[in-house]
Amino acid sequence: MPGWICRTCGVQYPDTGQPPGACAICLDERQYVGWGGQQWTTMTELGQDRQVVIREEEPGLSGVGVEPAFAIGQRALLVCTPHGNVLWDCVSLLDDAARAQLAGLGGIDAICLSHPHFYGASVEFADAFGARILIPRADEQWIQRPSPRIELFDDEAEPVPGLTLARIGGHFDGAAVLHWPAGSGGRGALLTGDTITVVADRDWVSFMWSYPNLIPLDEATVLDIARRVERFAFDRVYGGWWGRIVVSDGAAAVRRSADRYVARLNGERP
Ligand SMILES: [Zn+2]
Repeated sequence: MPGWICRTCGVQYPDTGQPPGACAICLDERQYVGWGGQQWTTMTELGQDRQVVIREEEPGLSGVGVEPAFAIGQRALLVCTPHGNVLWDCVSLLDDAARAQLAGLGGIDAICLSHPHFYGASVEFADAFGARILIPRADEQWIQRPSPRIELFDDEAEPVPGLTLARIGGHFDGAAVLHWPAGSGGRGALLTGDTITVVADRDWVSFMWSYPNLIPLDEATVLDIARRVERFAFDRVYGGWWGRIVVSDGAAAVRRSADRYVARLNGERP
């Protein structure tokens, strides 16, 4: 089963003989179609000049990326716990070396996704490790490759005991975060993809309807995102790319970033 992969967003579609006519995710106003028009590849083709890289971010947490970077270029995260492992977000390639490395880390029990741009080849990862895939019901329409492994949830789910997957909305109605209380030496970590994006100044985060097209969110939604993560204790925030990490005092960074964002929306400048 090759499964067609969109070259712009990296999301895998079913194996249909001929590639789909268009990528619904890239036609949405939050994404775009490149100069060359809609282009497709397969995992076999990707594996010819790219590889999966897996690097420890901190004890119990490994980054999973693709090099050279492909499509949006995100790196996923594998959270290893005594009660099971969760792959947070996904990439478009799973090669033999990564399969062996991930198995060595204990495999994958559940795959949780921040939002549709990072669905990648999640069904293929789930099939390889017998994992469940948890997707918010609010984003059901964005599932491009159906699978019996996909389970829908409403606002909160526990993919393995001790981890909390929470829908907080914003970038997508179903945009989610994963709370890992044992992260950052027991002070807690919040894994956000770009539901809450860690910006270049890593003491800050931001929130957008579209990142490539720079479409902001409204005041009520930004404040709601900040409010919805207040129930979690976390020191560190892991964004969706290598190095995009608020290393400490992450909860305060989310709060002050939401306040700054709303201040700018209301015309206040420093
Ligand atoms: Zn696409």
